[in-house]
Amino acid sequence: MIQVDYIVNHIFNSRTYILSNIASNDVWLVDCGDFAKVLDIIRGKHVIGVLLTHTHSDHIYGLSDLLKTFPDVLIYTNDYGYGALVSPKLNISKYHSEFDDIIIDDRSNVSVISEGSYMDVLGNKLNIYETPGHDPSCLTFKLDNYLFTGDAFIPGIKVFTSFKGGNKYDAKKSTEKILSLYTSDTKICPGHGEIERAVNIPL
Ligand SMILES: [Zn+2]
Repeated sequence: MIQVDYIVNHIFNSRTYILSNIASNDVWLVDCGDFAKVLDIIRGKHVIGVLLTHTHSDHIYGLSDLLKTFPDVLIYTNDYGYGALVSPKLNISKYHSEFDDIIIDDRSNVSVISEGSYMDVLGNKLNIYETPGHDPSCLTFKLDNYLFTGDAFIPGIKVFTSFKGGNKYDAKKSTEKILSLYTSDTKICPGHGEIERAVNIPL
């Protein structure tokens, strides 16, 4: 069984999820913000992979620290995200004073995935869905009962589509796709939020 914890990052209240199980020392992350807080929680466990819901700066600013601590970590994003990791314009760090320009120079740890790619995460099949609209790099991940939606779907909040690459029509289609994955057991894990109320509520 997967255990899912999360931290709320200090920039824009983005969330970093920490996936683990009691059977192993392996940890996976969904997005990466305040990495020091992640280290506090994982206590000696090993981060082997990070799934990027999208490559906007508030969801990736901890990646360089993560790579320093776990040089063999695997980073997963789609084709557009692969480009955005080296583009402060596309990852929007250029437009936010909270960040220095984010450029992940060495992308040898980065794997490009897309809808239909097969992945195993902590012994469970990971389902990957392209959910553009907020950004072309948006992926939604389904693992066990959990749905990691990033900023493609935040319960109760309209999808923000005003950044470069945003598209209202795509956002509507992606919302429909995400809701079609929802069942009574689903726990929705969005990309932002300080409080638990966002989990378990479809809208
Ligand atoms: Zn965000």
